[in-house]
Amino acid sequence: MSSSNQIHSAVAKLAPEYIKAIAPYQGGKPISELAREMGLQVEVIVKLASNENPLGISPKADYAIQEAVLDIARYPDGNSFALRDAVSKKFSIAPNQLVFGNGSNDILELAARAFLTAGCETIYSQHAFAVYPLVTQATGATGVVVPAENYGHDLTAMLAAITPKTRMIFVANPNNPTGTLLGKDELLAFLRQVPKTVLVMLDEAYDEYLSAANKSEAIAWLSEFDNLIISRTFSKAYGLAGLRVGFGLCHADIADLMNRVRQPFNVNSIAQAAAVASLADDDFVERSYALNQAGMAQLTQGFNKLGLEYIPSFANFVSFAVRNATQVNQKLLQNGVIVRPIANYEMPDYLRVSIGLFSENARFLEVLEQILKSNE
Ligand SMILES: *Cc1c(COP(=O)(O)O)cnc(C)c1O
Repeated sequence: MSSSNQIHSAVAKLAPEYIKAIAPYQGGKPISELAREMGLQVEVIVKLASNENPLGISPKADYAIQEAVLDIARYPDGNSFALRDAVSKKFSIAPNQLVFGNGSNDILELAARAFLTAGCETIYSQHAFAVYPLVTQATGATGVVVPAENYGHDLTAMLAAITPKTRMIFVANPNNPTGTLLGKDELLAFLRQVPKTVLVMLDEAYDEYLSAANKSEAIAWLSEFDNLIISRTFSKAYGLAGLRVGFGLCHADIADLMNRVRQPFNVNSIAQAAAVASLADDDFVERSYALNQAGMAQLTQGFNKLGLEYIPSFANFVSFAVRNATQVNQKLLQNGVIVRPIANYEMPDYLRVSIGLFSENARFLEVLEQILKSNE
């Protein structure tokens, strides 16, 4: 990956400075890549690095995918009619208040493209999801990072960072990679203080992993806030990360503008069919939630036993502190366990582990214990 000072091609040098300054996104290492690097069998590798659903996908989605494959010579429905109808009914929201994306990352990008230009500012928290700076910088706008408070968003400080140039504020709830959750009252009070001319992008990628009491009520708030965009995804609890489908919920005027900059066929036909079927399978989401609760308890008990500090998490991952995190990560990899180093989130002493199956969590804890013992 070349950074701005390593560009040799004459034409590539002509790209705007704000594009050349973008740091490439660092994803979780794919299983196949680690297998190649370490000479390991794919079967022995445990990947707990990208907050994927260890249960896979709903059997209903699986069936819908088999059906949809038969028709892939056709373009997808550019308006996602069936999916729009299903989401509209499920969340009691007007169809014209929905925007569909190639993953919810696409929703973040569509909002950025529709509303940001060079000279304006966005605000996001320290340790917040890495895609917020990416989509901001790609438009030439300036991202303003607000220091976190106990690894979570400091909403008071974020309000104080608003200037006449501020166009958008990103709020991840729960946040990735820290797993922190803002209270509903706190969030509502924040929204009431944000000027109506500033958009708030509320990223709720992990909402399905929240307990009933903690679940977001933000969709009901849309009637009060014209400037609120909520983003949701099928990548996490629904398990469709590889298909890429997510959606935004907002005022119809905002949705209209985001749809104008959207590629006409951004959500493929298999993803649309799988998403519709997934929405009809509450049982799968409940099982995913229950497995996650149990796995979170398993991992946090394991960390307690090993005397490791971790950040209490409301999502399907947890970040824990270890001495020599880079070296520990390298040893985990050598043993076929993939977790996520988060030094790029200004957390060099932490590793983030996604909640997996019971056996995967156990394997991770076992290998981690061996590594820590051998380091003593
Ligand atoms: C995983 C994640 C998403 C989901 O991204 P998709 O593009 O829908 O796969 C969005 N926001 C946050 C904070 C995430 O961690």
